Amino acid sequence: MNVILLGPPGSGKGTQGALLSERAGLPRISTGDLLREAVAAGTPLGAQAQGYMDRGLLVPDEIILGLIADVLGSPGAAGGVLMDGFPRTVPQAEAVDRLLGERGRQIDRVLLIEVPEHELERRLLGRARVQGRCDDTPETIHERLRVYEEQTAPLVEYYRRRGVLVDIPGVGSIEDIAQFIAKALDL
Ligand code: ADP
Repeated sequence: MNVILLGPPGSGKGTQGALLSERAGLPRISTGDLLREAVAAGTPLGAQAQGYMDRGLLVPDEIILGLIADVLGSPGAAGGVLMDGFPRTVPQAEAVDRLLGERGRQIDRVLLIEVPEHELERRLLGRARVQGRCDDTPETIHERLRVYEEQTAPLVEYYRRRGVLVDIPGVGSIEDIAQFIAKALDL
């Protein structure tokens, strides 16, 4: 099964992704984590990505496409994956379709985690204080929410038209939301 977790920054994709990956036995691929690892390791790709991430902008598609081609094509992904934080643009979604299609696979479900904007801001500001992630400043938070609306929200229609999108209410206890997701995937 190939599943995408879609939702704005702060919607809980990371938290739910980790739980679901365990529960469904699906390897989780997070482009955000891969990029942060590349930055920490000081690779050329990390150096290129960092400036965008620090400003709350999306890393250009060609950089992301290189990353995901490697992981989606790897033997570990052959039994299905949980994609967290990508695709984030229409060209990325088309690339995922192509990469899976070449292997006779497809996107089976897209979970859209919905959280009101004032709650997203509250969570992200809270996380900024606790974790000190360098892209969690008030200015970049605002920018990331704007970029989500502009570049990622169009994917909702892209997948809804195909009948694979499921709406998940993202406010409530972590366990309640996890249950909702499990039901949406018939787990
Ligand atoms: P969040 O969803 O909370 O913004 P992520 O860890 O998914 O956190 O992403 C952090 C940053 O990494 C993004 O703001 C963006 O700069 C970059 N990034 C992650 N995934 C992608 C992607 N698929 N395409 C472009 N940029 C990405």
